[in-house]
Amino acid sequence: MSKITTAPTVTDFDHVREWVFDLDNTLYPHHINLFSQIDRNMTAYVSALLQMEPEEARVLQKQYYLEHGTTLQGLMIHHKVDPNDFLEKAHAIDYSALMPQPELAAAIKALPGRKFIFTNGSVRHAQDTARALGILDNFDDIFDIVAADFVPKPAGSTYDKFMGLHRVDTAHAAMFEDLPRNLQVPKALGMRTVLLVPQNLEHAFERWEIAGEDDDHIDYVTQDLTAFLTKLI
Ligand SMILES: [Mg+2]
Repeated sequence: MSKITTAPTVTDFDHVREWVFDLDNTLYPHHINLFSQIDRNMTAYVSALLQMEPEEARVLQKQYYLEHGTTLQGLMIHHKVDPNDFLEKAHAIDYSALMPQPELAAAIKALPGRKFIFTNGSVRHAQDTARALGILDNFDDIFDIVAADFVPKPAGSTYDKFMGLHRVDTAHAAMFEDLPRNLQVPKALGMRTVLLVPQNLEHAFERWEIAGEDDDHIDYVTQDLTAFLTKLI
């Protein structure tokens, strides 16, 4: 709990030259809730694919998510779906809730070294999201679920693939994420880890407790990415 209020000191990140950001609920706040649209699209996809009622499709969708880490991975294994078709339809959403964030753009730009987006979504979704936020040009590359051969974070092999492809020096790297479990591998690799939590603190506490995880792998917790990054530059 105490970590909720921890603020970074600039020296804690002095050595960092590789900045790795999750996309959803990390580069934009949780309350924007783009995922509710993606979630509905996935239910519709499963429903159409398997000729199921939406309620039934939803149960299967969530079952695949729990068993395989993503709904897509379950659909690929059990129903041989075309991942590109799924990703295109799942991410056919309205991005208008996202507003340009010039302060966030300036803070990311001012960080020394390389910046990456590392997402379990698609490159297209990451580009559309980052473009709407006005931060797309601040990133060196985007590593997505296709590049990960559809094996999502937190699988160690996917971090290896990402770090290997870009020769990320993990001793000089930091990762920003909204899912605690996705920070376990980065911490083990020697990275600084920052957890983004929802801006409604009550909700954040509740979620923190539900997660019920050992939090030794989380160095910092913040509700405001822009404010956090601004303290480092
Ligand atoms: Mg996320």
